[in-house]
Amino acid sequence: MAATFYKYIILGGGVAAGYAAREFASLGVLPGELAIISKEAVAPYERPALSKAYLFPEGAARLPGFHTCVGSGGERLLPDWYAEKGVELILSTEIVKVDLAEKTLASSFGGIFKYGTLIIATGATFIKLSDFGVQGADAKGIYYLREIDDADSLVEAIRAKPGGKAVIVGGGYIGLELAADLIINKLDVTMVYPEPWCMPRLFTSEIAAFYEGYYQNKGVKIVKGTVATGFESDASGNVNLVKLKDGRELPADIVVVGVGARPLVSLFKGQVEEEKGGIKVDAFFQTSVPGVYAVGDVATFPMKIFNDKRRVEHVDHARKSAIQAVQHIKATEKGTSVAEYDYLPFFYSRSFDLSWQFYGDNVGDSVVFGQTDPSVPKAKFGAYWIKDDKIVGAFLENGSPEENKAIAKVARVQPPVTSKEALLASGLEFASKI
Ligand code: FAD
Repeated sequence: MAATFYKYIILGGGVAAGYAAREFASLGVLPGELAIISKEAVAPYERPALSKAYLFPEGAARLPGFHTCVGSGGERLLPDWYAEKGVELILSTEIVKVDLAEKTLASSFGGIFKYGTLIIATGATFIKLSDFGVQGADAKGIYYLREIDDADSLVEAIRAKPGGKAVIVGGGYIGLELAADLIINKLDVTMVYPEPWCMPRLFTSEIAAFYEGYYQNKGVKIVKGTVATGFESDASGNVNLVKLKDGRELPADIVVVGVGARPLVSLFKGQVEEEKGGIKVDAFFQTSVPGVYAVGDVATFPMKIFNDKRRVEHVDHARKSAIQAVQHIKATEKGTSVAEYDYLPFFYSRSFDLSWQFYGDNVGDSVVFGQTDPSVPKAKFGAYWIKDDKIVGAFLENGSPEENKAIAKVARVQPPVTSKEALLASGLEFASKI
């Protein structure tokens, strides 16, 4: 089969792809020069919506409402936009073989694509319990969430089991957001996670206590310090019981698992340098192979502010890394350059009427300030992380846009801290004065 050539190919059609396409269009791309190849059937969209408003019982978010680039307040790129710009959207097409030396991609249908420049934006996929050999983990009724098809299956299951029992396996942000969605859908929800508190990778025990208390007040049951070791199913193969390591058993009509993700790098194994589980890139998202870039969840990049190399699985970085790579591609063509990527980590989550933001790094000592009683409506509290006598990270629940900007600034500026007591007493005001 003859190969189809594009000057630029973006492999993957998620968040990074959408923002990269917009940047290409704004910097100038001729019709037919750029293609996005995606195994999903829809144009790029803001993936975080899937564990939030997509699952609401009423007024749920649906495409085309959340195509990129609305998530950061930009223009929504509908499928027509790609057509108008002459950007080829090659959907429902999985690339199964990549030859970076030959600059060729092969699809599962036998299609061959050649490129001048490649942007790898394959993102990540969920880790499955069957990957760990958990007994019965392939039963029907056990759901994972990454793509819109997964979300549609979950919506169907929620509708099919009104008032049913749901078990959420995993206490990270996906687990927390899903627990909120399911209880809003009037299911009977139990969360199970092995750690002593939820979101242990970010939250301190004090921060977690607020969210756990809030969730429990909403009716979510929480089982901590144990894991799901097996599932039982009925005669039709539908899950009906979750067995825990500590011997307890939880009846279940639906199980939703959020135990982490792994970057989709296997297509490139042995062809490109890797680091820390991702594709190694420089400050412009160039990989070790000339003309090949990697952005978003798959890239391990220099985190200048911490003088470190990291891979980040968050939407803000997916957007910004895509923009940086395209700007570098275009600058290089003109013989100019762009500044190095200087990313300040930013994570957020929303559930119920809660909304938090975090900037920087959660290392060193922490100071938690404000109202941490979950029964107080619209409680506002935050935290600073202090390392080497400087603030390196800041967290805020229920912040206004200005307050969130202030905590972002404090994490970026890294002001010195002489007294933790004074910091605690000053709380959010400390950030507002920076
Ligand atoms: P993705 O958006 O995952 O896109 C990858 C694309 O590549 C997909 O379209 C995939 O189908 C395609 N692809 C992969 N392999 C192939 C192949 N071989 N051939 C063709 N196509 C391929 N982050 C936050 O900061 N805040 C949040 O609240 C938040 N909520 C989230 C909720 C959910 C349910 C999920 C799953 C993620 C959430 N994230 C959140 C993380 C955020 O969505 C990701 O960091 C972001 O989507 C990464 O963008 P990406 O373009 O690198 O990958």
